Parts: sequence; structure tokens; C-alpha cells
Amino acid sequence: MIVAHTVSALCDALHTHRSAGKSIGLVPTMGALHEGHASLVRRCVEENDVCVVSVFVNPTQFNDKNDLASYPRDLQADLRLLESLGAHVVFAPSVEEVYPEPDTRTFSYPPVDTVMEGLRRPGHFNGVCQVVSKLFMFVEPQRAYFGEKDYQQIAVVRAMTTDLSLPVEIIPCPIVREADGLALSSRNALLTPEERTTATAIIRTLRDSLEWKKAMSVEAVQRHVIETIDATEGLRTEYYEIVDGDTLQPVSDWNESNSIVGCITVYCGSRPVRLIDNIRYK
Ligand code: AMP
Repeated sequence: MIVAHTVSALCDALHTHRSAGKSIGLVPTMGALHEGHASLVRRCVEENDVCVVSVFVNPTQFNDKNDLASYPRDLQADLRLLESLGAHVVFAPSVEEVYPEPDTRTFSYPPVDTVMEGLRRPGHFNGVCQVVSKLFMFVEPQRAYFGEKDYQQIAVVRAMTTDLSLPVEIIPCPIVREADGLALSSRNALLTPEERTTATAIIRTLRDSLEWKKAMSVEAVQRHVIETIDATEGLRTEYYEIVDGDTLQPVSDWNESNSIVGCITVYCGSRPVRLIDNIRYK
């Protein structure tokens, strides 16, 4: 496994593969890797000749300085995991390497980037597009793997890829969960054991809502999910939206679309830690 800290070392590592016509897959991550990331890497290794994993905590997608400062980092542990998974190239650059100059590009993809996370984290998706577009330019992958845990991110990255006419196939991968259902997240490491237990109410409630759907309107399910989670001590819902799986616009009727997803963001504990999750209704 080659570890490249610079764009030039990355290009050197990929040059021979590219000229030999090998397929290249990319898994963009911010490190502090867990089984969720591992599932993306396994798939990338399986489906491509060369699997590149980037490990880069991208400052431009953090709209909260404390969140950026407290983001967990452990490159040595990440490299051990990636080696065991059979990744071929790891790109772990410095901030200066990715942004030798401040990135002044702006990306705007309404309506998918204006709702939910886009509304609550101004600039977040712009930063995601800045870094992902650069990674796509550096690596020139045929395929890029993203987790459905960040459901909206996939829609935004797809919109950007189409907009820039990049020949990259965006491959969504299912959410990996703990045995008790909690979606794996690097941020889970910031939870106390007690908060970690409390957080399981999020997926429990979302799963219960699949039953509620049978007898309730969209609006009633939405309200009931928020009320149930907010009634749990230590949890506070920022939003719960039931949306069309493609446009991410709220639906008002279960028959309105063939693809309906519920997306939630919850603050957990005293720090608090911001957790996101989602569930597919159809
Ligand atoms: P991050 O390091 O949080 O930026 O995540 C890197 C990639 O891993 C993103 O595409 C995430 O959606 C994906 N990912 C994170 N957690 C999970 C999970 N629990 N299951 C599946 N994919 C995940």
C-alpha cells in the first residue's frame, strides 16, 4: 500500500496504473475509520483494479470551528485498517496541499443542496463540492463510493458530477450499523457510554415509524418521530424530514413518490454531538 501525502506523489503512484488501462476507484473519507468506511473500501477493492482512499479532514466543509477542532483523527490506525482491507493507495494530504490558495469556487445545486443539512450548515455542501471535485481531478476515478448515511451528500455530489461533466460513476453504499442499530459514525467516539446508549433511540424510533406509516399520514409520522425522540432525555431533534428520495423535497402523501426517505439530525448529550441518520420508507 502506497501512502501519498502530496498530489505529486499521488500522481506518481497512479501513473503506471492509468497508462496500463487499470480501473481506479476512490473512497473519500475524513479518517477515524470504522466499519462503515470499511464497507466502502471493500466494495471499491472488489470492483476496481486500484482502490484509492483519501483521508483528509476538509476544513472548508465545517461551518463550526469547534466541530473541526474536535473531529477525531488517528492516521496510524486508519493506515493499519486500510492495509488489512487491501487498499492500494492512500492519499493523506495536508490542508496546504489541497488548498495552496483559498478555494473561492462556489457550487450551488438547488433544490438538493438548499434543504435539510444545506439549510442548517451554510457552506457545508459548498465545501464538500470543493474537496470532492479536487479529489476527482487528482485521482480521476471511474467510480467513487459514498455512504447512504450521508444521504443528501450523495445527491449533491451527483449533481456536481453531472454539472462538471465528470466521467465518474457515483456508487451509493448502504448504511452500516452497530448491533443495536446505531449508524456507525466517527462522531460516535465523542459520546459517553451513557449517551451512546441514549442514541439508540434514534434508529429505534425510525424503525417504529415504518409501522406508524401504515396508519398515519406523512405529517403525523413526522410529528410523532420528533415528539418521541425529543421525549428521550439527552436527545433533541434538529429536523426530521420525509422527502422524495431523488429531489429531497418534502412529500405530503405516501403515494406522491416511489422513493421516500426520512432524514434526521439529532443532538445527543451535553457536548452535544450532532448525529445524522435516515430510513427508507419506499
Ligand atoms: P466521513 O469520513 O464521515 O466523511 O465519511 C466518508 C464516507 O463514509 C462517506 O461517504 C460516508 O457516507 C461514509 N460512511 C460514514 N459512516 C457510514 C456508515 N455508518 N455506513 C456507510 N457509510 C458510511
